[in-house]
Amino acid sequence: MQHFDYEYLIIGQGIGGTSVAWHLHDLGKSFQIVGDSSMPSSSRVAAGIFNPLTGKKLVKTWLADDLFPYARVFYGNLETKLGCKFMHVTPIYRPFRSIEEQNTYLAQTADPGISPYVANSPDPGEEMPYVNADFGGLEVVQSGWIDLPVLLDASRSYFQERHLYVEAAFGTDDLSRTDDGVEWQGKRFRTVIFCQGFFALENSWFNWLPFTPVKGQILEIATEAILKSYIINQGIFALPLTENRMKVGATYSWNPLDWEITDAATEELEAKLQGLLRTGYTLTGAQAGIRPSVRDRRPLIGIHPEFPNVSIFNGLGTKGVTLAPFLANAFCNHLIYGKELNPLVNIKRYFSLYFR
Ligand SMILES: Cc1cc2nc3c(=O)[nH]c(=O)nc-3n(C[C@H](O)[C@H](O)[C@H](O)COP(=O)(O)OP(=O)(O)OC[C@H]3O[C@@H](n4cnc5c(N)ncnc54)[C@H](O)[C@@H]3O)c2cc1C
Repeated sequence: MQHFDYEYLIIGQGIGGTSVAWHLHDLGKSFQIVGDSSMPSSSRVAAGIFNPLTGKKLVKTWLADDLFPYARVFYGNLETKLGCKFMHVTPIYRPFRSIEEQNTYLAQTADPGISPYVANSPDPGEEMPYVNADFGGLEVVQSGWIDLPVLLDASRSYFQERHLYVEAAFGTDDLSRTDDGVEWQGKRFRTVIFCQGFFALENSWFNWLPFTPVKGQILEIATEAILKSYIINQGIFALPLTENRMKVGATYSWNPLDWEITDAATEELEAKLQGLLRTGYTLTGAQAGIRPSVRDRRPLIGIHPEFPNVSIFNGLGTKGVTLAPFLANAFCNHLIYGKELNPLVNIKRYFSLYFR
């Protein structure tokens, strides 16, 4: 260890890089994070929702029973450490689209795997006259949202004060490999961890991985109705930020893959919103980002097939908030203690693409 300046070099300070950094920090490991605040980041666009039951078919999120308890403890501890609030545990109200859907969903809630995530309390729809819920609805619990810009800014300040964060545009060509590590800007590290989200596509070490990025847009609105503290979800989500401000999203599109807001996406969201809510509103903002999604919808984590000091933590797709904490823990244990990574997230499953 003596001849390294730091053990780890983390590239990218989205929720991926930040979760890895906190785990290394808590394990007493030395690291530096490189981030470029002028570059876009999916984490700064995301609504930050964590939702255990997703999709039209009310499916339990992959690994939910592991991911959700872990994330709650991780974010809660971080709030205490940083002295600021960014976790908002908030139920999700899912209006039924029809009597058939009501029957199907209610039958599903008897499943012991699903029932812990559904409230037993009476339908809260009546408290929300601004929601179209003619057939009633389901209340999902253990859900909520993370205010990611608050978490990321507070984490950055914490690391900056301790000289663990460097503001710089990292260029892959500026990194060189040594016999037992890597070197960047004259400093020696044992291992580099790339947490670049969408920008992994520009990284020659890992651009062979099967990323299938998805652009998304969200809106911000000011409502006439006074809002209750429920995220509304049916096809899109409407997330109350205050009692008359909401985030509404999101779209999914593949071409072009850029960070620009478009009128078409705004119109798509507004059309869906008008089906979901009965309230006048004013559009107050919009943001677009690119989700680092993957062909098989599982993260891309692990060590380079040829170079043991080069690694990646990426592919968080549409669920960075729930996946990042649990998997950052698994990844750090893999790097430090050699513990096996879940093969479904380990990039080993794609090594054949590298060697072909
Ligand atoms: C519209 C939208 C809504 C979403 N809603 C949700 C949601 O409700 N819940 C949820 O869990 N997820 C949501 N997501 C997905 C979520 O944004 C991602 O899963 C997550 O943010 C990915 O985090 P990341 O750290 O891997 O990537 P990023 O957040 O993109 O972070 C990568 C970082 O690396 C930096 N970087 C890259 N290259 C360099 C370089 N060369 N030099 C310096 N820095 C570099 C980037 O600037 C960036 O800051 C949403 C995404 C979108 C687009």
